[in-house]
Amino acid sequence: MLVKCDPLRPDPDVVKRAAEVLRRGGVVAAPTETVYGLFAHAYSEAGCRKVFQVKRRPMDNPLIVHVDSVEMAESVAYIPPELRDILRRVWPGPITVVVKSRGVLPRCVTAGLDTVAVRAPAHPIPLAIIRELGVPIAGPSANRAGRPSPTTAEHVLEDLGDEVDLIVDGGPTFFGVESTIVDVTRTPPILLRPGPFTVEELEKFFGRIEVPPVARGLAEADVALAPGMKYRHYAPETPLVIVHFDLEEAVRLLEARGLRVAVLCVGKCPKAKHTIPLGGDLYEAAKNLYDALRRLDKLGVDIGVVPAVEERGIGLAIMNRLRKASGHREARRPEDLAAIVK
Ligand code: AMP
Ligand code: MG
Repeated sequence: MLVKCDPLRPDPDVVKRAAEVLRRGGVVAAPTETVYGLFAHAYSEAGCRKVFQVKRRPMDNPLIVHVDSVEMAESVAYIPPELRDILRRVWPGPITVVVKSRGVLPRCVTAGLDTVAVRAPAHPIPLAIIRELGVPIAGPSANRAGRPSPTTAEHVLEDLGDEVDLIVDGGPTFFGVESTIVDVTRTPPILLRPGPFTVEELEKFFGRIEVPPVARGLAEADVALAPGMKYRHYAPETPLVIVHFDLEEAVRLLEARGLRVAVLCVGKCPKAKHTIPLGGDLYEAAKNLYDALRRLDKLGVDIGVVPAVEERGIGLAIMNRLRKASGHREARRPEDLAAIVK
């Protein structure tokens, strides 16, 4: 069931209906400022289990607990006083912190860990739903596990269809990539997933942040730093290659081998039969990225190419998602491309 909802002034009837579904142990898909989430009442074991079931998500990959305030976060987690001050300044926003859990939520929410990931989303719809319920909602992105995250209600429908009790359509999401996740139980804090809240900004609040190679999307660690990191993510069906040299040359090389090529491009697109413009700057590219990956699969081409972007600001999040989506296929020189498609 899909209902439209004004993202800025959520219709109180829609909010009440969503809260009712959640109270009964159902699941609701709704937009946040990052991507669409698939939410359950955080205290409902049945609801939280249903999130895993509907997504086909492995049970060892925990959910994010969404709250409306630092006070609500403290009802499920231990928040040290210095962190409390920081969260009051950065929330609501696209930043998730991993903190010590109070152990009050169903085990499946945290996959049995003694830590919990919490965030206050900067979006009127989930905030209104949380306020209506008076308790947190738990959820991951509302895509089928392994698929690109949904940035529109249509993406949610495409992946999960009528297995979701209610889809609240609040239009396309603002940032288009998932929240930044930082584990603040460690010193220095460690970046688990780059997102719209950049490392440069994080360091203004937390001091030095450790950025491990896995957070850049490089080589999957055998032992995942964070649960969920070891799974294939965001992947289109069509092979995708990140190109560090001239895109036009990459297209020529591939077409010369008789391959049908689609180009995802930032800024000016090179001449090619199939182009998927991501936008003029990196914020637009982040916003359009997952829709572009979904469109790539619908073109029926043999391969997609996408330019590498600078790993600064939101570019770090884009490269992390591209590396996962491409299965770590990166061509630094034309010779690499030849080796990849041989
Ligand atoms: P999603 O937003 O769909 O990517 O799912 C939430 C992500 O939050 C998961 O992939 C986990 O990696 C991360 N997460 C949730 N809880 C924890 C935790 N306690 N420790 C580390 N990471 C977590
Ligand atoms: Mg996800």
